[in-house]
Amino acid sequence: MNLTGYDAWKLSPPDDPPSPGDEEGQTCNRFSEPDEDAPRGHRAKPCPGTMVFNDVEGCSCHISPPCGACVNNPLVCDTCGEEA
Ligand SMILES: [Zn+2]
Ligand SMILES: [Zn+2]
Repeated sequence: MNLTGYDAWKLSPPDDPPSPGDEEGQTCNRFSEPDEDAPRGHRAKPCPGTMVFNDVEGCSCHISPPCGACVNNPLVCDTCGEEA
């Protein structure tokens, strides 16, 4: 009797949720707030958005780069808008 496959399954760690992206270009993977209207047993899916830097407002790098606006420009998800 060959239990190799079963043992491999049994010993493998449970599926971890994907880790949230915190670098530019990574997938967001954040879970949105639970939806009260979601059907019972509904499982939230991780956000498929991409982490991006939005355009900087009030950039003054032409005066003294890098300016505060650029330094503090948050990395945000282009889909759910969560900041990294
Ligand atoms: Zn700037
Ligand atoms: Zn997102």
